[in-house]
Parts: sequence; structure tokens; C-alpha cells
Amino acid sequence: MPTSEREHDSPAERLFFALWPDDALRQQLTQCRDTLAAHRDGRPVPAENLHLTLAFLGRTDARQRACVEAMADAIHCPPFELRLNRSGYWPRPRVLWIAPAEMPEALTSLAIALHTAAEGCGLKLDARPYRAHITLMRKLVRPPQDADCPPLDWPVDRFVLVRSSTFPQGVKYEVVREWVLGGV
Ligand code: ATP
Ligand code: MG
Repeated sequence: MPTSEREHDSPAERLFFALWPDDALRQQLTQCRDTLAAHRDGRPVPAENLHLTLAFLGRTDARQRACVEAMADAIHCPPFELRLNRSGYWPRPRVLWIAPAEMPEALTSLAIALHTAAEGCGLKLDARPYRAHITLMRKLVRPPQDADCPPLDWPVDRFVLVRSSTFPQGVKYEVVREWVLGGV
């Protein structure tokens, strides 16, 4: 079969592993976004898109996806508490974010396990150090000054695999699989 046909059979998807807020937390995050971004020009992340990336896989074909899913099945990580109590601004991408001031050990291990899994499946990941954060706003014109929102507590008991698709009106995320933490 010519290569082009094989590629047609299993088109690559853009995938990433993430922590996915439930509706209640999503609403709190949206409020936090609006508080921090009040009176500032920029592109708020739509409420339904708010998430915390664990590992960005990028273009992934069907074989690589099956491989990372099998590796994710084998990860043992306990549920953990995540306290989002720090906001910040990265000037180069002009991104406003919130993050944990302290990384729970379980979150670090989970992110490392997923990065290792992806690399083991032949995916090339970003070499920059992993920094857990939730992007609230992009292309912010001016950095926030003194605004803050109350700490948000997130009892994390699962992680997900997300497909990201770009449309003229913006990016769309679709959760394609979910893994519950701990259990056994
Ligand atoms: P768009 O790229 O259309 O502006 P987006 O950045 O939200 O939208 P993706 O590029 O699919 O969508 O990224 C999905 C998630 O993975 C986002 O949280 C993004 O910050 C993160 N991400 C993207 N590229 C990388 C990368 N090279 N390394 C680490 N995380 C990344
Ligand atoms: Mg992007």
C-alpha cells in the first residue's frame, strides 16, 4: 500500500494528557479568570476549554495512540489534592495562568510517567521542564497588577486523554479516554 494511503487509514490526531475540571471547579476557574482578567484586553480561554496539561503529545498516529494508552493503563498513581493558589503571567506568550504553589509529589510522578510513556512510544515531547498550570487568558495586553482570586482546591481522582482540533473559530478539545487514579 502506498504511504499516502496508509496515512489516510490512520490520520494523526493532536493529543494531550490532562487533568480535566468537573463542572463545579470549571465554574470557579471561570470566576477566577474573570476576576484576574477584569478590565484587561486579551483572549479569555473559553470555560469549556479550561484544563491542566500533564503531557502534550502533539501529532499522534493510531499505533502511537494505542501504545500510549496501554502505557497509561499500567500507571499506578494515588488520588491527590491539588491546591491552585498561585497566579502569574508569562510575558512571551502573554499568558495569564494559575498553578499550585507547591507541586504534589503524585502530580510530578504522574507527569513524569506520562512523558516517559509517550517517549517510549516514539513521540517527541517538548524538552522544556514541565510546569503545571491552567491557562486562563492568552494574548493579554498588560500583565495583571494586584488582582487575585481565592485558592481553589481540586481533589484529583482521574486523568484524561484529549484530542485537540483547530477550527476557524478556535480550538476544540474532546476527552477521548479517562483513567481513574488509585483504586486497587
Ligand atoms: P491553539 O494552539 O489553537 O492556540 P491550544 O494551545 O489551547 O490552542 P494545543 O496547541 O492543542 O491547544 O495545546 C493543548 C494544550 O497543550 C494546551 O494546554 C497547551 O498549552 C499545551 N501545549 C501545547 N503545546 C505544548 C508543548 N509543546 N509543550 C507542552 N505543552 C504544550
Ligand atoms: Mg497551542
